[in-house]
Amino acid sequence: MRKIGLGVWAVVLLCMGFAFPAMSAPAGASGCDKVAVGLQVLGSGGPIPLPGRASAGYLLWIGGKARVLIDAGGGVFLRFGEAGANLADLDAVLITHLHTDHVADLVALLKSGYFTDRDRALTIFGPNGNERFPGMREFLDAHFDADKGSYRYLRGFNAGDEGLFRFDVFEIGSEQVADPPRQVSDGVQMQAVSVVHGPVPSLGFRLDITLAEQRYAMALSGDQNLSTSTFTALADGVDLLVMPMAIGQVSTPVQRTLHATPRDIGLAAGKARAARLLVSHFMPRSLASPERQRVALAEGYHGEVIEARDLLCLPLQPVLYQ
Ligand SMILES: [Zn+2]
Repeated sequence: MRKIGLGVWAVVLLCMGFAFPAMSAPAGASGCDKVAVGLQVLGSGGPIPLPGRASAGYLLWIGGKARVLIDAGGGVFLRFGEAGANLADLDAVLITHLHTDHVADLVALLKSGYFTDRDRALTIFGPNGNERFPGMREFLDAHFDADKGSYRYLRGFNAGDEGLFRFDVFEIGSEQVADPPRQVSDGVQMQAVSVVHGPVPSLGFRLDITLAEQRYAMALSGDQNLSTSTFTALADGVDLLVMPMAIGQVSTPVQRTLHATPRDIGLAAGKARAARLLVSHFMPRSLASPERQRVALAEGYHGEVIEARDLLCLPLQPVLYQ
């Protein structure tokens, strides 16, 4: 029997209606590119590897484009691609704090911009430093400094040359007052406040979005123990409040110096009058006894509680202001 070449088989298969899979990103896999304004979970886990959960990361989609990235823990690089997001579309990156489960994939994501047509600067907001932690600027310098950076082959990030783009970096202080509102993207105003996460400089963000004469509002907290109420006040009246739920209701004092219990999260969400509460940043201890955690959350909060999972897209609802 005569051997048939691969090319001939291809023609035969195509004629029979078979098509070869296209080599393209799964754009729109999540549907978040189809809504007016949506928040997508890129990572619903924390610092412990769990099946199906990347470490912390979230993406704000506006008008079909991913505009603001919040945190970039391990696995977020992969989820960013699965979400169909494009690094060239990002206007701002907001980093809550510099624990690995919030920034481990940041450098890899930034580097991916080399392969896009991005040449405009990227604005990066993060916490300032203390004796235990670098500030956002020092963190980036440690990677990209032309002489000493661990990824000094990417030194083009400093001047915006060698195929890379510049960063505009803003560090936000540790005082317990809200930072002034800043415009971070077209129609997007961001306000940040420090939150208490043990000795770790950590931030919470509120985002107010105006699109087609509609207003949307959400707030997202970095890891915190809720021992101060500044973030809760900042989140007043939002449609969507995102809170890390890293410990269970039964927890140790050490755990509670870093994180808030489900009961305290529920109370804060109730006080903030948030229409919906998205709990995320799961760890085995906060995934255990789900009924007990739900009951504790419901003590102070009677709105809709949503448990985060990776790639979940939550369309934001317009907020009515009087
Ligand atoms: Zn964390």
